[in-house]
Parts: sequence; structure tokens; C-alpha cells
Amino acid sequence: MKTIGQADFNGKKVLVRCDFNIPLKNGVITDDTRIRESMPTVRKLLDDGAAVILMSHLGRPAGTGYEEAFSLAPVARHLEKLLERPVVFPGDVFTQVTVEAAKALRPGQVMLLENLRFVKGETKGDEEFARYLASLGDAYVNDAFGAAHRSHSSTAVIAGFFPESKYFGFLMAHEIENLEKLLHDVEHPFVAVIGGAKVSSKIDVLKNLVDKVDALLIGGGMAYTFVKAMGGKTGDSLVEDDKLETAREILETFKAKGVKLMLPVDTLCADKFDNEANRKVMPTDRISDGWMGMDIGPESIAAYRKAISEARSVLWNGPLGVFEMENFSEGTMQIGRSIGQVTARGGYTAVGGGDSVAAVNRLGLAKEISYVSTGGGAMLEYLEGKPLPGVQAII
Ligand code: AMP
Repeated sequence: MKTIGQADFNGKKVLVRCDFNIPLKNGVITDDTRIRESMPTVRKLLDDGAAVILMSHLGRPAGTGYEEAFSLAPVARHLEKLLERPVVFPGDVFTQVTVEAAKALRPGQVMLLENLRFVKGETKGDEEFARYLASLGDAYVNDAFGAAHRSHSSTAVIAGFFPESKYFGFLMAHEIENLEKLLHDVEHPFVAVIGGAKVSSKIDVLKNLVDKVDALLIGGGMAYTFVKAMGGKTGDSLVEDDKLETAREILETFKAKGVKLMLPVDTLCADKFDNEANRKVMPTDRISDGWMGMDIGPESIAAYRKAISEARSVLWNGPLGVFEMENFSEGTMQIGRSIGQVTARGGYTAVGGGDSVAAVNRLGLAKEISYVSTGGGAMLEYLEGKPLPGVQAII
């Protein structure tokens, strides 16, 4: 793996693709984690004596030019604070002004391009746009793990213009090392906890994990599709009826391979999708009509905690219930805590996916997890065993 740590960038003008796709509220950054996590890469390049040109996307603009709501201007201002130096922000991507600003950039200086997705070619992986971006610098660094599953101009195609001078940034390298470890080199027993709303978004991960884990614990809305597939009564719970057959296949594969698959035996149900709804614990396969499963129940929490406590390695992706609602967050919080305890006992733990990472942060547990991934979709695709274009382009 070619990482920036192995090279000296003195006197170089380095293009760095970051993932500054941060949450904004009225133009104010509400969580700067993604920006801060790219700082070791930027600092290393600056310390080497490089000029740094940062680029990123933000949200999903139409691709027809500037849109204020998706401008990276707040990120440019925030970078100035974090790096304690001015950041050149030409306010554009694909214009002569940008070209001139890049040309004028000197060692130790930082520039940020405007949102790459203001240019239509970016998400199409347009080669001309990639060639243009490449013309702005003399080396390319990809540190945007969150966008590594996209074959876009700035995440993959551009690397083709730097056959000898393309590198992984520190953040990317850290993500890849940990994902490789998860897939090929963890201590057993290895337990995966997979939750979230829908089974449809996690089918390929579940199929790939069967050959890796010793036990799979299922929670969240996706549990009910499995329970219904086994003939259970799921009331008004979230069920994907077109995935019942797939759920059956997954259950059979785990059984055939002798890998433990746990479903919640009991469920905390609500009579409406509301934090203030009436609540009742029911067996997961006998949920009354008019009630829906919102969180794993107390018996399930105990059983899952026990399974986790016996693990040497744990992977967690997806909340166990509707954890955004206080009254239905117990399962997610308790499971998060027991995963933290595995690390404390010297085990290895990994958490990915926006919601589970949010739960970990809410619990103040981030420091107690061995590896917290910054990429939701990218992490899932890696765990599915799919090559990520942003990674392949550098290797
Ligand atoms: P995902 O993005 O697939 O990981 O799903 C995360 C979402 O799943 C969160 O917004 C949760 O509120 C939701 N979720 C978890 N459990 C349930 C459930 N039992 N019913 C409905 N939604 C759920």
C-alpha cells in the first residue's frame, strides 16, 4: 500500500481528495469530525514543505453550477482555524480563476476548491474533468474513504494521471488496514452485530460475513423480515415482503455452515411510531396487530450482551432499534456499552455506519472502540468483499 508516510513532498503541489461532506445547519458546521480526521494528512504534507490543494464534495447538488446551500465556504473558514493559516478559496472549481490560484500557490500554502459536484462530470467519472483537476498539481493523495466506493473523477479517474505519484492519505490507510484485519485477520470468537432499518441494504454484507464470523446478532427493523420469513407474526413492524425469500436463504446458509445467527427473542413494541407511544414487550414472533417492533427487548439485550462478552472481536453496523427516540434507544445503548467492554478486556472492536457511530458518540464511547469507521456506504461495500474504485485506483 503506497501511503504518504513513505514519501517526501517537499516542493510538490499536492492534490488531496478529502471527505468534507459534513452536516451543515444554516451554513454552520454541526459536526467537524470528517474535517479533523483529514488533518494529519494535510499537516504531514505541509510539514514536508508542500503546497496543498484540497478538494471534496458536499451533499448532492444538481451538478449545474454553484448552489449556496452546498458551498464549501464554511469548510474553508473552518480549515483556517484548524490549520492556523489562511486558506485560499477561489470559490470555484473549473475556471481560469482556479487555475491561476493553483499556479500561484507556494509551499506551506493551502487552497480548497469549491464543491466538486457543482461540475456535472464529477459523479459521471468524466475523464476530461479528471484531467483538468490533475493539471492543477503534481501528486495525488486520496484521503476520502467516505467516497471510496464511488468511481468519480476526483476519487478514482484522476489517479490514472499520476501513475508514479498517487498515494493513500493516513485516514484512508487506517480504514483499509482495519477493514482488511476485520475480513482476514481477527481473533476469534468474532461476533458481528448488524442492525438498521432494512435488510435490503445489508444482504451482501450478511452473505459475506457468514464465512468470517462465529456469530451474527441481528437487530433493528431488519429483524422482522427474518422473523416473518420463519413464519412469525410481526404485527405492524417494518417488514420487506419482497425480501422474505432472501431472508430465508440467509438463514439457511448460516444453518448449513453451522454459524450461529441470533434474532431478538423479545421486542419492545409501540402502538405508533412515536417516542410517546404506549409500550409493551412481546415475543418477537408474536407481535399483535396494531403494534410495531421498535427495539430489542430485555431478554434479547441480555442474550446479545452475553454473546458479545464471549467475543475477542466485534463488528457493529446499524442500530438495534429506533435509537433516535429516547424510549427506544436502550437496546442500542446497552449493546454499544458491552462492545466497549470487549475493547477494555483487550479485544478488538469496530463500528461503522452513521447511526451506530452516532450512538457510540452519544455514549461517549468512541475512545473505547478500536476502530470507528468514517465511511458508511464505503465500509459496507468493503465488507461485502467488493473492490472499492477509490482504493483500486491507488493500488
Ligand atoms: P440503517 O441506515 O439501515 O443502518 O438504518 C438506521 C435506521 O434504522 C435508524 O434511523 C433507526 O431509527 C432505524 N431503525 C432501527 N430499528 C428500527 C425499527 N425496529 N423499526 C424502524 N426503524 C428502525
